[in-house]
Amino acid sequence: MLLDLLNVHVSYGDAPAIWDASMHIDAGQVVAVLGPNGAGKSTLINAIAGVLRPRQGKVLIDGVDIASAPSHRVCDHGIAIVPEGRRLFADMTVQDNLELGAYRKGARASSRETMEEVFSLLPVLKERRQQIAGSMSGGQQQMVAIGRALMARPRLLLMDEPSLGLSPLIVSEMFKIIRRINERGVAVMLVEQNIHQALEVAHHAYVIEQGRIVTSGRPAALLSDPKIKEAYLGV
Ligand code: ATP
Repeated sequence: MLLDLLNVHVSYGDAPAIWDASMHIDAGQVVAVLGPNGAGKSTLINAIAGVLRPRQGKVLIDGVDIASAPSHRVCDHGIAIVPEGRRLFADMTVQDNLELGAYRKGARASSRETMEEVFSLLPVLKERRQQIAGSMSGGQQQMVAIGRALMARPRLLLMDEPSLGLSPLIVSEMFKIIRRINERGVAVMLVEQNIHQALEVAHHAYVIEQGRIVTSGRPAALLSDPKIKEAYLGV
């Protein structure tokens, strides 16, 4: 057990964006969240990260409801986010960006050690640790965003379209990194438009349309579902 979402509703003002979402992520799993533009994937991830507060429902981490906790408390529960668009501190070095990821209580004391682990996973960050983050390529900046999230030593990493805008080669690299992160015992919730690659790495997937979870299952089952094939795989 790690994360349970129970009947979560999220609105922007009076405009509902997520209706009655329930989902489950086990420790060490990769769970993909798929769906068209505007379906509510970022909204869902931001509600788990504490960036948005659900109007109703529960976000349980190991059975503890964090739905009304501010985002810095959510981080204390072992959740970190790689947000859509990366949100780096563009004028700061790679190393400074990484250090900012280690702000949670449990992560600060071991930040040197964690940074070495991040460097072993993402060697480009070690080579370029003194480089100004904003001067790096899109793929490298995405690595910084991932490294920064890992500095919090999360048990669950929320990734919002990490491959967006990257070239196919870098996208493949990104998916290898996701697999390696998971092999180190970190669960990953992955919002993606690269459906095939997301389903290759995922243990379980949810499909969301117009704010509702419409189906879920193992990747193999979704890949053989005619409706999914037609809507998402262009078959
Ligand atoms: P994309 O793949 O385009 O990022 P998404 O599946 O992540 O899409 P969301 O960004 O979560 O979708 O958007 C879900 C719905 O909420 C959309 O109708 C969107 O217009 C609306 N929405 C998103 N952010 C806001 C906001 N800050 N204020 C008002 N409405 C919003």
